[in-house]
Amino acid sequence: MDLSTLVMWLRETDTTRLAELWREADRVRGQYVGDAVHLRGLIEFSNYCVRQCAYCGLRASNRAIHRYRMSTQEILLSAHQAASFGYGTVVLQSGEDLGFEPSWLAEVIQTIKRETALAVTLSVGERSRAELEAWREAGADRYLLRFETSNRRLYEQIHPPRSGQHRSDRLAMLEVLRDVGYEVGSGVMIGIPGQTYDDLARDVMLFKQLDLDMVGSGPYVPHPNTPAGRGSLDEFISEGEHVPASELMAYKVIALTRLVCPHANIPSTTALATLNSESGRELGLARGANVVMPNVSPPRYRTWYEIYPGKACIQETAEHCNACIHRRINKMGRVVGTGRGDSPNYTRRHRRSGARFLPT
Ligand code: SAH
Repeated sequence: MDLSTLVMWLRETDTTRLAELWREADRVRGQYVGDAVHLRGLIEFSNYCVRQCAYCGLRASNRAIHRYRMSTQEILLSAHQAASFGYGTVVLQSGEDLGFEPSWLAEVIQTIKRETALAVTLSVGERSRAELEAWREAGADRYLLRFETSNRRLYEQIHPPRSGQHRSDRLAMLEVLRDVGYEVGSGVMIGIPGQTYDDLARDVMLFKQLDLDMVGSGPYVPHPNTPAGRGSLDEFISEGEHVPASELMAYKVIALTRLVCPHANIPSTTALATLNSESGRELGLARGANVVMPNVSPPRYRTWYEIYPGKACIQETAEHCNACIHRRINKMGRVVGTGRGDSPNYTRRHRRSGARFLPT
């Protein structure tokens, strides 16, 4: 799909035409990744962050949130709970927390891998090659790092470098992740103030160019304690060009991502469920997605992991989320995936390259 076709779809308003897009995305999803919906237990283990991202509530200078870091024991309890629900994967996510030793996280990964059959996905921000190698060595299987936007100028507005550091280059880090042998995931926020239709179409093209194994994109949700939430980027919005941070736009991105990256694992995101708690998850799954990430963090931490306000399911327990998601998937006539749910894109790539990094 070329840039102008992608822009055309992103601007489409005709419901009959859109119904064709949803149908085609759903068909391709069924053909390439099947009917199973893979569940990933999300453990938000720390909200400490050294960064100053203009959009995110975890940014270092937000003094209004209580900071926490889960203990090894708490993380292990959550991981075991995820395993007991039959999930094949846990995602360890945090702010860019420099307050723990890389060797501590390596031990956590090792213990999870020793005590369970779970695949481990990391989402802990921009890290050195040495750290990424150590965690891969410890048994981590996958890594999520959104490039947030392919527009370099906008990226620099929303994602400044750490003080005294070089400019942030997430695309370069995605290359390192792949080289180290991770299954690699990325994605963008939809409707960042200043993001144009061309920008978003280029994001989707970049998903393909990067040959991503996982692609997660969700609507931007303003956070009042951030510069973007207070309007710092509004001067960059150009009338008629700006992408709305809407539910509909999120479905379009999911559907188009499925068409350009047919073998990728694509989640129906929490940000989407936040915009439509009634049926956002299901509609994402019906329009190209095949993954959901139920939260398994202990309830007392959920409210503090506030990357944006009003996040879906922050009052719920892990048991509640598990029962709810099973009910929703069954009602759709889909099945809950068993096993680790590795990305078919990753397994294909490594079959081709001699299976050097086949998941263990
Ligand atoms: N520190 C890690 C994990 C961050 S949270 C990292 O930076 O990779 C994961 C994702 O949440 C981010 O990549 C971003 O795309 C998304 N996010 C952050 N703030 C958001 C907001 N206000 N609205 C929507 N998504 C947001």
